[in-house]
Amino acid sequence: MTISENVPLTNYSTMHLGGSAAYLCEVTTRMEILEALTWAQQRTLPVIMIGTGSNIIWRDEGFAGLVIVNKILRFELFKEDETNTYLTIGAGEPWDSVVARSVQAGLSGIEALSLIPGTAGATPIQNVGAYGQDISQTLVTVEAFDTQVGDFVTLPASDCGFGYRTSRFKTTDRGRFYISGLSLHLSALSPTPPFYPAVSEYLSQHGINAPSSATVREAVVAIRSAKLPDPSVVNNTGSFFANPVISGGQLAQLQADHDTLIPHWSNDDGSVKLAAAWLIEQAGFKDYHDAETGMGTWPAQPLVLVNEHANSTASLLAFKQKIVTAVQAKFNLTLEQEPELLPLK
Ligand SMILES: Cc1cc2nc3c(=O)[nH]c(=O)nc-3n(C[C@H](O)[C@H](O)[C@H](O)COP(=O)(O)OP(=O)(O)OC[C@H]3O[C@@H](n4cnc5c(N)ncnc54)[C@H](O)[C@@H]3O)c2cc1C
Repeated sequence: MTISENVPLTNYSTMHLGGSAAYLCEVTTRMEILEALTWAQQRTLPVIMIGTGSNIIWRDEGFAGLVIVNKILRFELFKEDETNTYLTIGAGEPWDSVVARSVQAGLSGIEALSLIPGTAGATPIQNVGAYGQDISQTLVTVEAFDTQVGDFVTLPASDCGFGYRTSRFKTTDRGRFYISGLSLHLSALSPTPPFYPAVSEYLSQHGINAPSSATVREAVVAIRSAKLPDPSVVNNTGSFFANPVISGGQLAQLQADHDTLIPHWSNDDGSVKLAAAWLIEQAGFKDYHDAETGMGTWPAQPLVLVNEHANSTASLLAFKQKIVTAVQAKFNLTLEQEPELLPLK
């Protein structure tokens, strides 16, 4: 394992902005995680473990510690019976290849999570989700180095504090665990409806009456490809803002104030989730290209901020603030940033 010094972090975030890391290394085994952590501990350096940086914005001042890039690979299927299969994966496995391989094996459970960038090990952090599925639905255990215990532990999904795009890894126990692997419970049965509306529409348009995990994956890949930029080509970190959750009463008031129907989804607890993309569009940022900051919004999805020619995270944050201020002025709602600004302060 090589530890490099003074490494620009621009290539460790798909937004391609930010300063340098004092130290950076890649790990391919659990033993290398231990080695890297011991090395940092001996020098009392802070540590951040990352995957591919598709949900990270690095600060311009960089990180005065050790960045550990998780590259641990493993993909092992264990068939329990005709229906149930367990999949053990290394944290550094590219997530979409995990989905593709499980679908190829005729398994269902994660097909709607197709084409989400990043590594398998990052999926529990924000309980990655899309098109009606999230990782908490199939996750059995997370294997991680627990800095409080000083050893590797196995956490059952019920101990991960999962919620909508959140978990204990990003809230109460932030920075405590370095994830080395996951196990998932997949099924040999075909996925069953109801499917997410856009997926249903695709399936019926294509005459697919008995969907398999492969055809649901095909639908999700087609829908996502039409709407979202490929982070290996266009500098972005996906949805930049979370969809705001408000009460039913607040929604009624907003609709009355603006004399319009506001797109939303109803939650089981009576609250409603608004489409941040719609709010941004209404605030005047559809297909927007900001010469001042070098940032823009993706034409097919204004929730995605794109680094067109920005040269600092400060520029990105200035552009973000323009959007937040405009949405606040129009709807009195504060949009919350989804990708993490690292290091945390
Ligand atoms: C175009 C695009 C579309 C996207 N669509 C979706 C979507 O539909 N749904 C969704 O939920 N997300 C989506 N994302 C966000 C992103 O893909 C996910 O959050 C993904 O899980 C991040 O993986 P990563 O390996 O790049 O993590 P990174 O960005 O490298 O890290 C993210 C966070 O996880 C931590 N972390 C990463 N790996 C480990 C580990 N092994 N152990 C401990 N901590 C770790 C990091 O410290 C950081 O806090 C999208 C992003 C892009 C660019």
